[in-house]
Amino acid sequence: MPILKMEDVTKVYEGKVTHRALNQLSFEVNKGEFVAVMGPSGSGKTTLLNIISTIDTATSGYVTIDGMRPEEMTKNELALFRRRQLGFVFQDFNLMQMLTVEENMVLPLTLDGHSVAEMQKRITDISSKLDLQNILNKRPNEISGGQAQRTAIGRALIHQPAFILADEPTGNLDSKASRDVMELLMKVNREQNTTILVVTHDPIAASYCDRVVFIKDGEFFNEIYSDERRQTFFQRILNVLSLLGGNVHDLSTIRLS
Ligand code: ADP
Ligand code: MG
Repeated sequence: MPILKMEDVTKVYEGKVTHRALNQLSFEVNKGEFVAVMGPSGSGKTTLLNIISTIDTATSGYVTIDGMRPEEMTKNELALFRRRQLGFVFQDFNLMQMLTVEENMVLPLTLDGHSVAEMQKRITDISSKLDLQNILNKRPNEISGGQAQRTAIGRALIHQPAFILADEPTGNLDSKASRDVMELLMKVNREQNTTILVVTHDPIAASYCDRVVFIKDGEFFNEIYSDERRQTFFQRILNVLSLLGGNVHDLSTIRLS
């Protein structure tokens, strides 16, 4: 059962020079899938994510999320849909600097007028899952990058969204923190059946997913599914990346633990 359906999606940016960032891109994501999107810089990954996020609209083609067509919704419906059904995680965490870890996570709920007791329950639940219990009162500048990204994931999860969208969630993290974040997303995917779509250029991060969709010049290039061993999936990801023209020599000897 697809939660996301992209049909012949084209995005053209008009400007001094018009640029076709996505060209007749079609693919589906099933409910409960954990999917990575990879592609060279400039291949349209962020454009794709913005369209799925309903932040931007396609020039032509159809996007269906959970049976709904974002372009047919009113502004208010769209805002509500985004807030209730989708969770966002960004490369630079996007936390509010003047709020604590707890306040950052609870912020989306306060907008919806949940009871204090309900908010408290979710915070307790999520902070233990994300191992943030001991830093709930700290502010973003007092915590590590990994903790900041886990806070951002907590904020994305607080609404129990059906679908999480992440743009380079490990882009600003060291390898240990990246691994923790990907393991956490994997856990959320498995335990809560949350559908997750991650844009990444990191083949190690992508190796945690069930499937990797590769795009090139805004077009579908290839897709591969994971197998039992993450190491062999990682190698297969590298193989496709080298076909895509990336330099993967320095990565091909990495052993995943
Ligand atoms: P990626 O995230 O894969 O690096 P993007 O989706 O950001 O790629 O960009 C795809 C292409 O579209 C790039 O060539 C980029 O320069 C162009 N582009 C992105 N956003 C805009 C915009 N707002 N206006 C014009 N061109 C854009
Ligand atoms: Mg990008």
